[in-house]
Amino acid sequence: MSRESKKAKKERLERIIAKLEEIYPESVCALEYSGDPWRLLVMGRLSAQCTDARVNIVCKELFAAYPDAWGLANAPLSDVERIIRPCGLYHTKAESIIEASRMLCEEYGGVLPDSMDELLKFAGVGRKIANLLLGDIYHRPAIVADTHCIRICGRLGFYPETLKDPYKVELILSELSPPEKQSDFCHRIVQFGRDVCSARSPKCLGCPLGEYCKRNQNSNK
Ligand code: SF4
Repeated sequence: MSRESKKAKKERLERIIAKLEEIYPESVCALEYSGDPWRLLVMGRLSAQCTDARVNIVCKELFAAYPDAWGLANAPLSDVERIIRPCGLYHTKAESIIEASRMLCEEYGGVLPDSMDELLKFAGVGRKIANLLLGDIYHRPAIVADTHCIRICGRLGFYPETLKDPYKVELILSELSPPEKQSDFCHRIVQFGRDVCSARSPKCLGCPLGEYCKRNQNSNK
């Protein structure tokens, strides 16, 4: 794996991206945020250590009760905690989505900023959520190094499988992938992780990325 040049890795990743585009013509964010940047910020925060499917269910009630940032900014903490409890870490998450909503209203007039530095100032927002927002809302180059991305790109052989540091993964993949493809690639890799390359039982036999996958090649030696 370590012998592969950066150029060869870039070319291999481009072939993988093209294959994923073929498999998943639509690149869809797993969080159903209806195009509303504030909702994506909230849902991104709730998705920490929680499945996207559960976040989508919980947010139906949350957004019915508090349909915009102003509403959530003034919501009683206990009510928000009650609603988002199924997402886990509900106390901290409730505090941070209320605080982030307040900041969005008071300091940005409800308009989400479009820079990494400013997004990182919001409560509960780390690079993963900031990249999700930059990629989806502002169509900027953005690698969302979530659990699927980290696991699968490690198995594919773009870095050692033992590497789990999201920031290092983000930097590696940012360098290897075409900027304009990054955001959609990350959405597709999540879909692929659910359908084929799951954490516990990857379906390597017949995998459409098998010919580009280092783990697959090593296991066939
Ligand atoms: S061959 Fe296996 S490990 Fe490699 S991408 Fe496909 S499912 Fe994942």
